[in-house]
Amino acid sequence: MENLIIIGTGCAGWTAAIYSARANLAPLVLAGSQLGGQLTTTTEVENFPGFPEGIQGPDLMMRMQEQAEKFGARIAYEEVVEVTRLPDHFLVRTGEKTYEAQTVILATGASPRHLGLPNERELIGHGLTSCATCDGAFYRDVPVCVVGGGDSACEEAGFLTRFASRVYLIHRRGELRASKIMAERALANPKITPVWNSHITAYLTDEQGEMAKVRLQNLVTGAESELEVRCVFVAIGHVPNTRFLNGLVELDENGYILQQRGTMTNIPGLFAAGDVADHIYRQAVTAAGSGCAAALDAERYLAGH
Ligand code: NAP
Repeated sequence: MENLIIIGTGCAGWTAAIYSARANLAPLVLAGSQLGGQLTTTTEVENFPGFPEGIQGPDLMMRMQEQAEKFGARIAYEEVVEVTRLPDHFLVRTGEKTYEAQTVILATGASPRHLGLPNERELIGHGLTSCATCDGAFYRDVPVCVVGGGDSACEEAGFLTRFASRVYLIHRRGELRASKIMAERALANPKITPVWNSHITAYLTDEQGEMAKVRLQNLVTGAESELEVRCVFVAIGHVPNTRFLNGLVELDENGYILQQRGTMTNIPGLFAAGDVADHIYRQAVTAAGSGCAAALDAERYLAGH
């Protein structure tokens, strides 16, 4: 029987692991399919306190893992498929094994949202992606576009200017939602061309099935047009990763886990931390903070039971 299983290895998961390992709970961390979470798909992180020169997202996550392991956190590279509540503990089933735990912290984060166009699934990896860091370098000296108007879209667009001949920033409104500094930086970049008040209505492919163009509709005038792009980088927000819970915990209307007392869900002994329970702040540092809170809540819960 484990004291504590932490599901997820983003900022929330690793911070929960650091705190609970230092409290001698010997947590077991189940890593899932994306070790290190969303920060592993980003480049420079400029706003994590303590790094005035910035730090690369993957480096930050490796350092968090190292810190958690140093204090005795154990890690299994397995994907959780089900969590079951028993009267006084939990069963956590992965593709390989079933673990028993007195407490569980859910820190599974959120995954990129897509537009919901028909040939989306087939195009992923063929000119459709949500990760500029992962795929940007494949699109040298060709035009690409980013969809969205938030910080992610601006960050991705800026990064892509290193490779692409032109980066179109396609946004459904006439102004960006991004923070002032990131919006200004993106709009001042001569390689970024904003396409305002527009949305993509179709992905058009070449004979090889690779992305060739997007069909656009101007949401103000209704006018349709086509734009040649070899890759579409979608940056329109995220969907919380809760499907494996199969209705076990209460969620809000957008599918984010509801926390009831501190970080505890509606089920005693089951806690949530990071983006899986946060649709408001969604920052590396707030995820880390809630991971810390969940570890403290789990520790107190264990002490009281
Ligand atoms: P976001 O702020 O929620 O922005 C999503 C963008 O996508 C919005 O501009 C939205 O349009 C657009 N959108 C949503 N659904 C759409 C659809 N179906 N079709 C077309 N456009 C759609 O998400 P985010 O940019 O991923 O940022 C999430 C959080 O992470 C934020 O708190 C952000 O500050 C943070 N973040 C920070 C950094 C940084 O500081 N370095 C970097 C990345 C992200 P509307 O504007 O019309 O709603």
